[in-house]
Amino acid sequence: MRFSKAFIPTLKEDPADSVIPSHKLMVRSGMIRMLSAGIYSFLPLGYKVLKKIIEIIREEMDAIGGQEFHLPALNPKEIWEKTGRVEAFGDTMFHVKNRDYVLAPTHEEIMTFHARGVLKSYKEMPQIWYQIQTKFRNEPRPRSGVIRGRQFLMKDAYSFDSSWEGLDKSYELHDKAYRKIFDRCGIKYFVVGASSGAMGGSQSEEFMVKSDAGEDTVAYCESCGYAANVEVAQSKIPAVKRHEVSKKVYEIHTPNVKSIDELCEFLGIDERETAKSRIYIFNDEPVLVLMSGNDEVNETKLESALGGAVRPAHPDELKEITGADAGSIGPIGIKFRIIADLRLKDGNNLYSGANKNDYHIGGIDLKRDVPNIEYFDLRTVQTGEECIKCGSKLEVFKAIELGHIFKLGTKYSEALGAMFLDENGKENPIIMGSYGIGVERVLACYIEQNYDDRGIIWDKTLAPYQISLLGLNMKKEPVVSACEKIYGELTQKGFEVLYDDRKDVQAGVKFADADLIGLPLQIIVGERGLKEDLIEIKIRRTGERLKVKTAEIIDKVQALI
Ligand code: ATP
Ligand code: MG
Repeated sequence: MRFSKAFIPTLKEDPADSVIPSHKLMVRSGMIRMLSAGIYSFLPLGYKVLKKIIEIIREEMDAIGGQEFHLPALNPKEIWEKTGRVEAFGDTMFHVKNRDYVLAPTHEEIMTFHARGVLKSYKEMPQIWYQIQTKFRNEPRPRSGVIRGRQFLMKDAYSFDSSWEGLDKSYELHDKAYRKIFDRCGIKYFVVGASSGAMGGSQSEEFMVKSDAGEDTVAYCESCGYAANVEVAQSKIPAVKRHEVSKKVYEIHTPNVKSIDELCEFLGIDERETAKSRIYIFNDEPVLVLMSGNDEVNETKLESALGGAVRPAHPDELKEITGADAGSIGPIGIKFRIIADLRLKDGNNLYSGANKNDYHIGGIDLKRDVPNIEYFDLRTVQTGEECIKCGSKLEVFKAIELGHIFKLGTKYSEALGAMFLDENGKENPIIMGSYGIGVERVLACYIEQNYDDRGIIWDKTLAPYQISLLGLNMKKEPVVSACEKIYGELTQKGFEVLYDDRKDVQAGVKFADADLIGLPLQIIVGERGLKEDLIEIKIRRTGERLKVKTAEIIDKVQALI
């Protein structure tokens, strides 16, 4: 492609609305333009990369026996009502005003609709159906460029099996295919598992990349690969010390002491000698939650420990419930349910609130003084704590979800009546899995992991073109003829070359654009070099420069790519 004929509108400055590197670089290199919040147009350079990712995904999906569909984005609302998902998606779902239609945010319903009455016998399964298609979600906070869009491309796949073992196999196949896809794209990812253990095999795994732009926080162990969302992650945090001799419980006057830090300072004690109380409301009843020192309650863990939704008690409820305000609450004398973080297990000689403003209690032995206490893992894992699996140091960071594999079970087949006859002629709902990849996210996340202060750094697999051919002064005949010759030969050999043949553009601008667009190799043809029969090759990733004889340039490029 000749740059002079190409539509590659590069920009010197970062767009005002961009925060993360991939967003800035995709706009600046002329890959995308925003149409409206969360809605992006792919320009030719960006679309070339997108198509390469799509092709990799397609190859790996076909390799596991996937059959490609193309479903409509405009769906009758009725089908979505049958599964209860019009309500479940709420405002995230786009509704079409003049008819009873919705714009599909995913396609479980529609695939199940097509399976229904067609996959009638166990003999017709397993099936893997997929598509690479546009999805619509009215994301409340679209941001980070194409990473969270209101319209985006998803590879979504659905498996249909006649047995739970079959579902395990289909799931396994997708897991392998996903690893191949992300490996081939050159993305460093990790896998976060989640198993709720609920009936219907609701196992799921998320393929994630580390990024400050992420909206999930995960704990990750580099040495054994343990990865979990902080909402469920665990670490090997040691329990507080149990002293040989338990002191007696005694009251201390602590005027104006509210926080754990203030208490530690006032008494000259360590944070780990204190137990902080929080009151939550669960099923209209109060629950006292006890944490060690300044450890915060992880509400997701609390909800799964209790088995339902909780809310913190309002400040004005506290006095009525405990007799004291926040900062003076403690486990002694409490008549309702008390649960504590595992870290406090059987702790003694602890300090906590006295349920009387401006008073605390010392010498608390949880084993002796709080006999009905229950222990759960309730705290959020922090960087530096030991991995629950291997004991190495955990790192806690933000991450983006690239893909998701999920054992759906029979939720959709039951709701939509997609039944099959088993070997015994008995009717059963089809057992399903669903598997998604955000195609634009793959692209953006590749860039998040491959850039420098000059621009994007492509590897040859995803690069929109492999080679930048820069004619430094296209007004000089020797430069033009050398470039034309190289361009002709490389294109003939099947290389994708972006030939910067622009006449009125300074060499500096061509260098800057080449680094910004970031193709793996740059061939730099200048008048001075040609006088010595030399052409320069620059490797974008390393910045390494090689001087090559004109006659050897094609061989050299072939060897390098
Ligand atoms: P997130 O937690 O990031 O909102 P999700 O759990 O809603 O993701 P899924 O419904 O599992 O995502 O969709 C499958 C894939 O589609 C995701 O793994 C992600 O890569 C992609 N995806 C989801 N929402 C968006 C979006 N708003 N913009 C771009 N890609 C998206
Ligand atoms: Mg979402």
